[in-house]
Amino acid sequence: MIVVIRKKMKRTFFFAVIFLILTGLSNATLSQEKRIKKNQHTNESMSNKIIKPEEEWKTILTPLEYHILREKGTERPFTGKFYLHKETGIYHCNACGNELFRSETKFDAGCGWPSFYEPINRNSIIERLDTSHGMIRTEVICARCESHLGHVFNDGPNPTGLRYCINSVSLGFDEEEGERQTDQ
Ligand SMILES: [Zn+2]
Repeated sequence: MIVVIRKKMKRTFFFAVIFLILTGLSNATLSQEKRIKKNQHTNESMSNKIIKPEEEWKTILTPLEYHILREKGTERPFTGKFYLHKETGIYHCNACGNELFRSETKFDAGCGWPSFYEPINRNSIIERLDTSHGMIRTEVICARCESHLGHVFNDGPNPTGLRYCINSVSLGFDEEEGERQTDQ
């Protein structure tokens, strides 16, 4: 009889241990998932990324904007609204509003597209290797929404020697209000 009780106790003890291990494991997995989710959220807010499904971009952008910004299209040269644009201000991403280039860095490259010798901030754009169309080029995309902007070439003027060749369709423009500065 005592042997039977001991066996039963042993079995109960065994199941209790298994139960505790399993509960502990699932709790550990849960807390790990929570941490990853929390970190993901922190990373997203820190980098300020705007990631939308393509279907949503299609409803926000015109067909031409969608083709160039989201399908890496190129506008016909000498046709873009900012090609000969000379106003003072800041050019931003036409998809998400991220500030990209200052008008002071714009120059006439004669290539048919708006050209800049440097971005407003190193973190405002991302450069990627592009081997499409049988060429080796460096693609320029918006760092916030990863929309296609254009390409960068190393035949630009001083001080950088770079030419950021950007589609007008990929850009929006905010004119700088000079008068406001004199009022203050
Ligand atoms: Zn953008």
